[in-house]
Amino acid sequence: MQLYNISLRDFRNYETLSLDFSPEVNLIVGDNAQGKTNLIEAIGYLGSGKSFRAQKNAELVRLEADFCEISGKVFSQEREQSLRWLLFVGSRPRQLFCNGVKKKTGGEISGVLQTVLFCPEDLMVLKTGASPRRRLADMALCQLRPNYEAALTEYNRILEQKSRILKDRFENPSLLEILPEYNARLCQVGALLISYRARFFEGLGAAAKIYHGQFSDGKEDFSLTYHTVSTVKDPFAPLNVLQEDLQSHLESHYRAELESMQCLTGPHKDDFDVTLSGLSVKTFGSQGQVRTAAISLKLAQRELMQRESGEMPVLLLDDVLSELDAGRQDFILNQITGGQVFITCCEPGRFTKLGKKIQIEKGNVKI
Ligand code: ATP
Ligand code: MG
Repeated sequence: MQLYNISLRDFRNYETLSLDFSPEVNLIVGDNAQGKTNLIEAIGYLGSGKSFRAQKNAELVRLEADFCEISGKVFSQEREQSLRWLLFVGSRPRQLFCNGVKKKTGGEISGVLQTVLFCPEDLMVLKTGASPRRRLADMALCQLRPNYEAALTEYNRILEQKSRILKDRFENPSLLEILPEYNARLCQVGALLISYRARFFEGLGAAAKIYHGQFSDGKEDFSLTYHTVSTVKDPFAPLNVLQEDLQSHLESHYRAELESMQCLTGPHKDDFDVTLSGLSVKTFGSQGQVRTAAISLKLAQRELMQRESGEMPVLLLDDVLSELDAGRQDFILNQITGGQVFITCCEPGRFTKLGKKIQIEKGNVKI
């Protein structure tokens, strides 16, 4: 999969832009606040209809304008394709065209231009609390497996209802009678989530191990462990076994859940841990190690997506170079092969042997 070019009109700080890309590495260089991340955001939006940082589509429209246009030509699914979005300020709904044909939803273009994004917030994901890690894994799995997304939505829906029952248990004690029904359903759907996650983390960990080894020049041995509910002895076990494991944990926490009025047990508390040569990154990792391991996870995610769809998603790396030593920077700039990559950075002296350098200044390409 390859993005040949992009055209922007009144997108963020770009009035008009028309830019051709290298099939390999595109190094986007410029001072702060010139529009590097805006360009990465535009590429992500083109393929997904989602921005990784805007709350509302209207934010994407240049301040003086009423609407913006993002369009691009792509090679994917064995042919040339075109995508075009029109976004409006105000209530007018956005419009999407794929190969000149108007589409109703972003879902209709899934697979035309898939991207994997790494942004500065992801750099610290292995150091933070569990919820950003869970979100990262969930988002990757949802992209990989539509059935997982459906199960996750269902799990969260039941969890929210159970939460309400527990919170209202004094005002509405009769609701407690239906609690076992909710618990049973949670265990059923929860078992499915664990089963998906076990396989996903196994594949992700194995691929990330290889990338991290290359990244660190063989000096660090990457290992990923998936943690779920403690009564689950084997997350690869058949669904009925997982379901019983979850049920037994729930039963032993029944009283505690009533007392705390919170859902204390289940795969909504899942987490994963990365060790480098046996030491936990969370506790012992240096800045560079934490970043390297997080980037290796993204590269692994890209590879899993490629195995699934047969096409390598476009990799978007925003601001990942700082705090990495020369060898690790070289890996990012010159050694990520097998697909198209976009990398932003501020240092004008950086270059890549694999593609082209694009200099951005005040929403324009500097020639
Ligand atoms: P850094 O190196 O600091 O990350 P950057 O080159 O990635 O900088 P961007 O995040 O792309 O910078 O933003 C560039 C500029 O775009 C910012 O100064 C911002 O104010 C401007 N900008 C963002 N949204 C809009 C908009 N809707 N209209 C006009 N300008 C905008
Ligand atoms: Mg930026």
